[in-house]
Amino acid sequence: MERGSTASVHAMSRLPAIGIDVGASKVVGGLVDGEGRVLAREERRGTPASDEAGLGALLLDMVEKLRVAAPDGVPVGVGTAGLVRWPEGEVDFAANHGHGRVKLRRNLERGSGLPVVVDNDANAAAWSETAGPFAAESVLFLAVGTGLGSGFVMNGRLMRGPRGLGAELGHLVVDPGGGHRCTCGLVGCVEALASGWALEREGRAAVARDPRGALAGRVRTHGLSVRVLIDAALDGDPDVLRIVDGMGRRLGRTVGENVMSLLPVDRVVVGGGLAALGRLLLDPMRGACDKALARSRCYDSPRFTMSTFRADAVLVGAALLAATEVPAREGAGLPEDVPAPA
Ligand SMILES: [Zn+2]
Repeated sequence: MERGSTASVHAMSRLPAIGIDVGASKVVGGLVDGEGRVLAREERRGTPASDEAGLGALLLDMVEKLRVAAPDGVPVGVGTAGLVRWPEGEVDFAANHGHGRVKLRRNLERGSGLPVVVDNDANAAAWSETAGPFAAESVLFLAVGTGLGSGFVMNGRLMRGPRGLGAELGHLVVDPGGGHRCTCGLVGCVEALASGWALEREGRAAVARDPRGALAGRVRTHGLSVRVLIDAALDGDPDVLRIVDGMGRRLGRTVGENVMSLLPVDRVVVGGGLAALGRLLLDPMRGACDKALARSRCYDSPRFTMSTFRADAVLVGAALLAATEVPAREGAGLPEDVPAPA
């Protein structure tokens, strides 16, 4: 695919499309137009159903409500946490929801009769940037939430690995000697140093170091959570500001030293819950990346921006992915329901 061709793919696509974001604590769906505007919205709070049938029923109910205002045969895109096999749309939720592999795409296609695509939430979020003001650039999307998800769009194409798995920058080992074990089992992954759970760990350590300090007082009143630590940073708490600055620098250094020589992106986009930190996270990222690349002399620094669609990035990206992929799939004569490999 040539540089800049993504926009024309969108122009030919079936829009509007339905996009659904399956998160750890809520499911949000919307009917989305070609500019990424959400025309209608549905939301279900609480943890998604803990079994295949329950989750399938929830998604089907959401699709049935959203399709009322949509043209016949509207395509549906789902962006979800967990390991997703593309194009089968089978999701392994083991790390997130405690249950095994779910045939999300097959179940939703059979239930709704609509064409469905299912992808990893960070991939969907990365794809949302193809509809923003900088469409068709090569983009690294960093979803800095509880963990650290990532999606790459290179020259208008979403990068996928073997078995359709997405690129996982979060599990790039950058500090093997530092002793921080990651959820994946390795030691020194970027996620173990810069993510929501790493912020909590460092916040807890800061409280233990200074049990009479301002942060300890705040934590006694509000408890210790990512949200409380973000608020502390936004209120100027020096301990949390130091932690956030270190995380930003680690992320920027990783991009400058490890990512750019392999995948030279034009832009690095920050989304996820920790995007609420805004410039507190973005400025040290940019600074550390520039510093690393100034030494290399090979690559121009990418631009660092916040996610165009903010909290709707996964929803909008999933809808745009469906609008792009479903006509391509049908044009290629592929079966609507791809059988899972034996
Ligand atoms: Zn890891």
